Amino acid sequence: MRADLVVVGSGLFGLTVAEQAAARGLDVAIVERRNHLGGNAWSEPDPDTGIEVHRYGAHLFHTSNERVWEYVNRFTGFTDYRHRVWTVHHGEVFPMPINLGTVNQFFRANHGPQAARDLVAAQAAELTGEPKNLEEKAISLIGRPLYEAFVRGYTAKQWQTDPTDLPAEVISRLPVRYTYDNRYFNDRFEGLPTDGYAAWLTRMADHPRITVELETDFLADGHELSRESVRGQVPVVYTGPIDRYFGDAHGALGWRTLDFEREVVATGDFQGAPVMNYADDDVPFTRILEFRHFHPERAYPDDKTVIVREFSRFAEAGDEPYYPVNTPDDRERLLAYRELVEQERSQGVAFGGRLGTYQYLDMHMAIASALRLVDNDLDALIGVRGL
Ligand code: UDP
Repeated sequence: MRADLVVVGSGLFGLTVAEQAAARGLDVAIVERRNHLGGNAWSEPDPDTGIEVHRYGAHLFHTSNERVWEYVNRFTGFTDYRHRVWTVHHGEVFPMPINLGTVNQFFRANHGPQAARDLVAAQAAELTGEPKNLEEKAISLIGRPLYEAFVRGYTAKQWQTDPTDLPAEVISRLPVRYTYDNRYFNDRFEGLPTDGYAAWLTRMADHPRITVELETDFLADGHELSRESVRGQVPVVYTGPIDRYFGDAHGALGWRTLDFEREVVATGDFQGAPVMNYADDDVPFTRILEFRHFHPERAYPDDKTVIVREFSRFAEAGDEPYYPVNTPDDRERLLAYRELVEQERSQGVAFGGRLGTYQYLDMHMAIASALRLVDNDLDALIGVRGL
């Protein structure tokens, strides 16, 4: 097989690199371990209801990056879906992310924006200095009572890690608003692919210069696109797990994995919303997804619906990695792996994506990062001496 570039992994990072390299006239071979491309954004119709289900958890596309928005619109249209989430606490439903509606419902009050800000500021006054971890960051944003109601239990389930050991950035993903705007994301552009993720992702790889080898493990020997066959011969963009590439030389990096429990319910609407979080730790799952609500514009059956309960736990060998845990130990290991990554450069191997860099990346971030690699590194990678 002739290829100018091997891309390992076909998630949004790998697909973007492959598509852009092919558009520049390179022949690209994508090597994918799973039996489908698209990484965790993959979706498919539920066999019993026909409702599009995101196989690896809810994927909501949003970005403020104009270049990324223009880029993704080459492959798919987007609906006008706007993500909204609610959360159950002590048997009562509140809007998420925390906004004026949440504050007033929680405190049984009718505060205006300034009064609510003052209240939260007073409740956050116990903190001095820069917030150093998730707990401090959350308290600085919403005060202790709201933190304890809506964040502590949920975070305990999601991470099983002391919130003072989690990085502040994890909670920074959630906006806090002193208006009644309960949109989940602040970004300029948002929507779901009109005819589904599978169609979008498949189109990205649909190029005469791109081949996709499914169910092929790059790190396993004995095939013509394995690491041992191509390393030093053909440039490689590797988006698989960074620790696995190096045989866990510095130890395995910690990940959270998710378990999904699917149920078909004989009703046209189970919960009236796409996502219901469960903030309290007496409920074992973190949230229930009801996928029909992601596409209100579609004609779905009105007598059944598919729901998915989402459970979170530490990943063990063989589990799908979802969220990097990023403890201080993990960060130390990552630094050690980054030195090995530098050495692989001379062999024409570049690392990228969520697994390849041990970084939580939203879809738009993975795409932006891939476009940067193509802008800044592709020529050098292709030009590595001897390749
Ligand atoms: N979070 C929370 N309560 C919620 C939703 C989120 O405490 O109801 C916190 C929790 O620590 C979580 C983080 O915010 O890990 C990021 O949430 P997000 O919804 O962005 O997580 P994702 O959808 O990516 O799993």
